[in-house]
Amino acid sequence: SAPSIPGIPAAPALPGWEHRSSGKVRDVYTPAAGGPWADQDVLLVVASDRISAYDHILATPIPDKGAVLTALSVWWLEQLADIVPSHLVSLDVPQQVAGRAMICRRLDMHPVECVARGYLTGSGLAEYRATATVCGIPLPAGLTEASRLPEPIFTPAAKAELGEHDENVTFQRVVEMVGPDAAADLRDTTLALYARAAEIAAERGIIVADTKFELGTDAQGRLVLGDEVLTPDSSRFWPAEAWQPGRPTPSFDKQYVRDWLTTDSGWDRSGDQAPPPLPADVVERTRSRYLEAYRLLTGTALAV
Ligand code: ATP
Ligand code: MG
Repeated sequence: SAPSIPGIPAAPALPGWEHRSSGKVRDVYTPAAGGPWADQDVLLVVASDRISAYDHILATPIPDKGAVLTALSVWWLEQLADIVPSHLVSLDVPQQVAGRAMICRRLDMHPVECVARGYLTGSGLAEYRATATVCGIPLPAGLTEASRLPEPIFTPAAKAELGEHDENVTFQRVVEMVGPDAAADLRDTTLALYARAAEIAAERGIIVADTKFELGTDAQGRLVLGDEVLTPDSSRFWPAEAWQPGRPTPSFDKQYVRDWLTTDSGWDRSGDQAPPPLPADVVERTRSRYLEAYRLLTGTALAV
């Protein structure tokens, strides 16, 4: 099994699979010899119930979060399949991780986080305030927190090591990283995916302020959509009725966690201590928010 990372619990042993790596949220496995997928070019991607905030993996999991991330990704991959093929192969996974794991085609991932923004907030707003651009794209004067952009923009980021911040980069930098054709393909695909997703979400009263896709190429060299798709972890979802330019819109999912960490918990965000465990009511309210995001977007409650 792969070496463990501080703060990340050991990935469960799964029959037919070998643990390969773990990120902040997902454990990734490769087929084991003698298992049902032996010698096939697939990965098992397991979404844990881990939650991160302020660049820390919290000690307290959110029950059913992994199931929500997986089911929502599966739902979106289907909505978006005519724009770009999906990496999903099968949901027939070991019983121990049923509902929160996908068997996926193994892709050569582009080393670029493909971010689309329709609204200005977070690192985009910070860069705009400093330079009047985001990822080198000039924007009109007078925009503020949560402003809607004149049109959605592609704001790529270079994938950072675990614990480091992803770094916003210019389109030119993406061209240098992957070549001009792949760069244009990533940009156009990202914007097409965002446009479709924003339209679907808007019908359900949700603004997709921004979102991150990860794309890669399959064995035939085709561009394929990988990783998680349009989940609360990879996107900023805002209730449309709460949106007002000039002030931050509460994020759909991590609001209670962030509020508690920065007020009642007594934790020093700027210090080097890990955040304390979450109280049960913060866990329960956060869990409800993840389930609510799923229900609002898909129109169906997730059976958990
Ligand atoms: P974080 O999301 O916390 O920044 P991370 O992205 O490194 O960290 P996870 O999201 O927890 O980690 O793990 C998922 C990993 O699997 C990512 O590195 C992602 O790029 C990779 N991945 C997802 N789908 C595929 C695929 N089809 N083929 C190859 N790699 C994939
Ligand atoms: Mg990830």
